[in-house]
Amino acid sequence: MKTHESLFKRACQVIPGGVNSPVRAFNSVGGTPVYVESGKGAKIRTADGRTLTDFCCSWGAMILGHAHDEVVAAIQAQAALGTTFGINTALEVAFAERLCALVPCLERVRLVSSGTEAVMTALRVARGVTGRKRIVKFDGCYHGHCDSMLVAAGSGLLTGGTLTSPGISRHVASDTFVVPYNDLAALSELVREKGQEIAAIIVEPVVGNMGLVMPEPGFLAKLRHIADRCGALLIFDEVIAGFRFGLSSYAKVAGVKPDLITLGKVIGGGLPLAAVGGAAVFMDELAPRGKIYQAGTLSGNPLAVAAGLKTLEVLERENPYRRMAQLGERLSVIVNTAAASKGLPFRCAQYEGVFTLFCRAQPVKNLADARTCDTRAYAQLFHSMLNRGFYLPPSQFEVGFISAAHTQEDVVAFAHAVVGA
Ligand SMILES: *Cc1c(COP(=O)(O)O)cnc(C)c1O
Repeated sequence: MKTHESLFKRACQVIPGGVNSPVRAFNSVGGTPVYVESGKGAKIRTADGRTLTDFCCSWGAMILGHAHDEVVAAIQAQAALGTTFGINTALEVAFAERLCALVPCLERVRLVSSGTEAVMTALRVARGVTGRKRIVKFDGCYHGHCDSMLVAAGSGLLTGGTLTSPGISRHVASDTFVVPYNDLAALSELVREKGQEIAAIIVEPVVGNMGLVMPEPGFLAKLRHIADRCGALLIFDEVIAGFRFGLSSYAKVAGVKPDLITLGKVIGGGLPLAAVGGAAVFMDELAPRGKIYQAGTLSGNPLAVAAGLKTLEVLERENPYRRMAQLGERLSVIVNTAAASKGLPFRCAQYEGVFTLFCRAQPVKNLADARTCDTRAYAQLFHSMLNRGFYLPPSQFEVGFISAAHTQEDVVAFAHAVVGA
């Protein structure tokens, strides 16, 4: 612990809050944040010499586990050939072809370097092609840190949301309407009043950013219907969901076709790589064919693309999805059975290896539900697990990930630790 404390102390002198992304600071669970030295498979080794089973997995990016041999080899080989040119490469063409072949709604795809950029571009395309300015988002969905998405529900449905961060122009909030997740009645009411002004409805088709929340049956199909009726584009933000539950989008699982989709995390194989794509009629409006501007110095760089391509290749060959789902099921059954019989105040929400230990006995269907969770109990659970050698996401409102590298023993040992905690 000494090591982590002194590293964090140094970090705070030179990095705002000591971290390069806020949740890493442990503000919601307390204590000193962990420093990682290395990772292999499902394990990470900390700077103070402990080995932890990692259920954060870089927020889902490391679906094959850390330092997968083939991905490392692909990165090394490409690094020796050059990491970025700012000139086209065959690799990015192959990667885009791969994505378009695997994801039904993708006719065109542009590569970017973060999920935030992908969402920002999707929103710009939606505004550009519809000539409208309003965006509808759902409370508790996270779409990266671009201005118009840092908005939460305000006092009234029709007045636009409230900014969740200083530094953003106030009119941005009035252009973003915020509706409770899974609430079709609220959405219909909004669309009845403001439908003609709405450029896009953006949604996480499976929510990973208020803890795991699933769409209710018919919710996503109804979004498609509502978007069509009011002439808005439907954007699925699949930065977490894409390639997480199978070698495609969750849209395919749900049988719903969004106009635009954003991908990130898994597709980058652990490097900064994300994508935005969709129907050609919309995507071809991007420069240079169209007038909607978007660009990036490192976009589609061969190093990141090599990692992404290799990751998709391994996922296709080894198809670990069923196993990850079974392990997730195992985790939730052990936790929920013991929690119910012992009267423990938490439940495991789980879908195909993605999970949240919600410190609340009833299921969570939206942000209002999530907010009633006992975050202090979660903080205790988090630290108790950390002491026993398991790294969970350091916030109640995030999801844990079982990767292809986790073994049955990893998951069962974790489940038993949780209910013994
Ligand atoms: C992580 C995430 C983002 C942002 O991606 P970054 O690469 O962190 O910018 C956007 N949308 C969703 C659903 C995410 O989970």
